Amino acid sequence: ELNLVPIYQTHGTEFSGILLVLQDVSAIRRLERMRSEFVANVSHELKTPIAAVKGFAETLLGGAVKDEETAKAFLEIIYDESERLNRLIGDILELSKIESRRVPLILSPVNIAQFMVNTIAILEVSAHRKHINVNLSAPEELYMEADEDRLRQIFVNLLSNAISYTPEGGKVEVRISLTEQEQVRIEISDTGIGIPEKDLPRIFERFYRVDKARSRSSGGTGLGLSIVKHLVELHKGTITVQSVVGKGTTFILELPIMH
Ligand code: ADP
Repeated sequence: ELNLVPIYQTHGTEFSGILLVLQDVSAIRRLERMRSEFVANVSHELKTPIAAVKGFAETLLGGAVKDEETAKAFLEIIYDESERLNRLIGDILELSKIESRRVPLILSPVNIAQFMVNTIAILEVSAHRKHINVNLSAPEELYMEADEDRLRQIFVNLLSNAISYTPEGGKVEVRISLTEQEQVRIEISDTGIGIPEKDLPRIFERFYRVDKARSRSSGGTGLGLSIVKHLVELHKGTITVQSVVGKGTTFILELPIMH
């Protein structure tokens, strides 16, 4: 899309001509549209928990507070919904920081096998609660240069999704290897519900969820995978996904090794 922009030239008080400038505005329009879509999505996502907090508080004030059991149940919902708001706002701020590249990476050598053992340990309790086994296979002496906090964020997000979207008694497997192109390849597979093929291309978009109700009940914000993708790209890596509904999902990351 091209716009013709007239610029009137004057010399002192005298009119001396018109300069016509051709300007491609489609990129600017696209950015504007993306920005306003994002604001609309954010507002919508924030409204849901606020409406719940408001509604339950109103019912309590309207008299429900007198029944102790009801009061407790409603207060618990109010508490959970405020937690969700907190998480949402945290993720929104995080995403906006990463997208505007205001995240300087603090790089250091990371032994990826050791790092993964420590990361899996963080999620041990939630895996254990669902009787899910998390297995790791990795070469011992493989190093990459990465920002440890950001790398942790990537794997915690992917592993906690794998655990959330896998039924009780399932399996999560992490396989690390060195590719022929000298990249670290990290595969995170689960035996979970899987993702329908038509949803796969959109899975990294902000707020995109296959099943909104399920994501909400597992505490998801719908921003995790967008954050992960940005962080992987900041590390000059790639992330792809393969999935079969009812069988499971595999996320595959390739990141540069350290020489
Ligand atoms: P959420 O907070 O909803 O988990 P994410 O951005 O982390 O948001 O993921 C987006 C959507 O991708 C999820 O709502 C879910 O539908 C799907 N998803 C992500 N990881 C998995 C997985 N391991 N198995 C099945 N579905 C998944």
